[in-house]
Amino acid sequence: MIGVFGGTFDPVHYGHLRSALEVKELFGLDEVRLIPCKLPPHRDQPDATPTMRLDMLQIAIQDQSGLVVDARELNRDGPSYMVDTLQSLREDFPKHPLLLFIGSDAFEKLLSWHRWQELFDFAHVVVLIRPGYALANVDTFFLARLVVNQSELSSSLAGRVFFQPVTQLDISATAIREMIARKQSPRFLLPDGVIKYIHQNRLYQTH
Ligand code: ATP
Repeated sequence: MIGVFGGTFDPVHYGHLRSALEVKELFGLDEVRLIPCKLPPHRDQPDATPTMRLDMLQIAIQDQSGLVVDARELNRDGPSYMVDTLQSLREDFPKHPLLLFIGSDAFEKLLSWHRWQELFDFAHVVVLIRPGYALANVDTFFLARLVVNQSELSSSLAGRVFFQPVTQLDISATAIREMIARKQSPRFLLPDGVIKYIHQNRLYQTH
């Protein structure tokens, strides 16, 4: 099984990295592909260029086997729609179940994603929830696809929904950018190599 973890990664931080490693181990994945978006469809445009966000990801995961940086969204024109990304991954990996990991905040907005129903043609969706999070107002489309045993995800290539409790680190890229603009140290929130890159390229100095 292959994990897919999309995001802006402006910049990548230990919240992302820790989650990616935890899900890799929890689900026994061959790899987790971290996929930076080029043009996020649902939010303000990032501060760092796509190439810089890609560089920072590469620096962050260089010593970690099983985490892979995947640049396919940067090589595509137009908005970075996840459905296109999953379709292209499915072409590359026709026989592997794909697990798309999304946070519960993103899951609440999933019905507004471009061609969202088709995500399930290409991948399972694993929602990372805070321990104790109550499943309220979940659309019947998802309830019909819900599985409660993790093992059921490996028996088909796509189409299921699974809720996975994880302990989330309280780190956000927005808070890191603001800290840097205020000339405070973001150390211990993201890898030192990424901080060095941010300084060398004078990123996030104004907000
Ligand atoms: P920003 O503050 O700029 O919105 P962010 O830190 O939320 O950024 P994104 O790149 O937007 O990071 O997030 C990519 C993915 O990582 C999303 O699925 C999001 O839910 C998840 N994520 C973000 N922060 C954390 C965290 N601290 N722990 C676990 N997952 C996270």
